[in-house]
Amino acid sequence: MALHATEELTAAPTSEIESEVLNDQTETYEFPEAEQDPQSVYATIHDQLVLDGNSQQNLATFCTTWIEPEVERLMVECADKNMIDKDEYPQTAAIEERCIHMLADLWNSPEAATTIGCSTTGSSEAAMLGGLALKWNWRKRRKATGKSIETPNLITGPVQVCWHKFCRYFDVEIREVPMEGDRLLLTPEEVLKRCDENTIGIIATLGVTFTLQYEPVLAISDALDKLQAETGLDIPIHVDGASGAFLAPFIHPNLHWDFRLPRVKSINASGHKFGLAPLGVGWALWREKHDLPEELIFDVNYLGGNMPTFALNFSRPGGEIICQYYNFLRLGKEGYRKIQTECYALGRYLAEKIGELGPFKIIYDGTDGIPGLCWELKDPANAGFTLYDLADALRERGWLVPAYSMPANREDLVIQRILVRHGFTREMAHALLEQMEQSLDHFAKNPVDITLSGAESGSHDHSGR
Ligand SMILES: *Cc1c(COP(=O)(O)O)cnc(C)c1O
Repeated sequence: MALHATEELTAAPTSEIESEVLNDQTETYEFPEAEQDPQSVYATIHDQLVLDGNSQQNLATFCTTWIEPEVERLMVECADKNMIDKDEYPQTAAIEERCIHMLADLWNSPEAATTIGCSTTGSSEAAMLGGLALKWNWRKRRKATGKSIETPNLITGPVQVCWHKFCRYFDVEIREVPMEGDRLLLTPEEVLKRCDENTIGIIATLGVTFTLQYEPVLAISDALDKLQAETGLDIPIHVDGASGAFLAPFIHPNLHWDFRLPRVKSINASGHKFGLAPLGVGWALWREKHDLPEELIFDVNYLGGNMPTFALNFSRPGGEIICQYYNFLRLGKEGYRKIQTECYALGRYLAEKIGELGPFKIIYDGTDGIPGLCWELKDPANAGFTLYDLADALRERGWLVPAYSMPANREDLVIQRILVRHGFTREMAHALLEQMEQSLDHFAKNPVDITLSGAESGSHDHSGR
């Protein structure tokens, strides 16, 4: 079931006169003067929302768009629960705490039952908290030896925009390793070239936004061990596991990317991506309690009780956390593995079929990163269309299959990407493939003048969702 209002909530049709008045008002930006009856306002807004895209055809987003009816029910039951108000809602607080320790266990923390972590609104907030902890810990180490704390830097691969935000908002130099040729990810060699005494940490992404591939956390960790042995520099890793932290434990349990590596001090993940929770929940966890500096924890007493908090937000809905807990209990490792195995199989199937269409070179085939695939044109100059044209053609049939250019130094490379999430079926895959074939036929008969098409326009970048 999609996240739409259910039929029985739809109000009876309103009279002509009422809907005219409503339409007038909903098209302005002025704050309404008068009040109106709830049923007609509901009906008007419901009708407006119908014009939004169909989330099941959105192959651009990483986020959950399919939820069980039990999750819908829990979300309604939790509408009044403020997760920050731990004194008023101790059960919600206990559930959040259980989720944290379940995740610490899933990610192999040596202190799973006692380590520290928190829920957030998503990976972006969790990334800010992870980055702040790195910065504080670095400062402490520097101060202890009387060294300058003026110029912290953070080394990353091609990261999601949240890390650019962290670095700008919190005054840290970002050393983003550019892509070169076929190397579209961070490598140990590139990390080592940029490390110095002011490096607060390395961000390794498990599931890069642009290509869906995993960065080699273990190899980076090994390289940093060697660097420490040679120079004494002890540089921590934070893993941005927005997607991968809810995939690798089930599908690639032998992949060492998590707290099994002592150098991995913190991990963020989006509960609302492959954690399958409704929108609005992420997680930040530290390997052991002492990896999170105490100075970042605030004690508040004005909600009754004395509550330690570490978060950028204060009030926040509790429903998403509770539904995350529902998913953990409902699915267990077995259920997550089952759902994700099917997603991976569909991603690989699409990679095979789309590869066979002819004009495309598959860059990522859905095997050892996030379920999905991405491709480029084999011969962009002579294809008779750009991937932006193909994205537009698919969009006419409701499919959102984003085309976008890569970041530095591969801005010349345009790729197209599909994410396979829970709720995408084999039948839908066939419908999409059919539509792609029809679009290719159309371009073969009516080639696009590539010099005039939208390839240069910046308005096509959908990669960050
Ligand atoms: C989605 C994503 C983010 C941002 O996560 P939100 O939950 O949308 O805030 C950060 N990093 C990566 C790698 C992502 O895929």
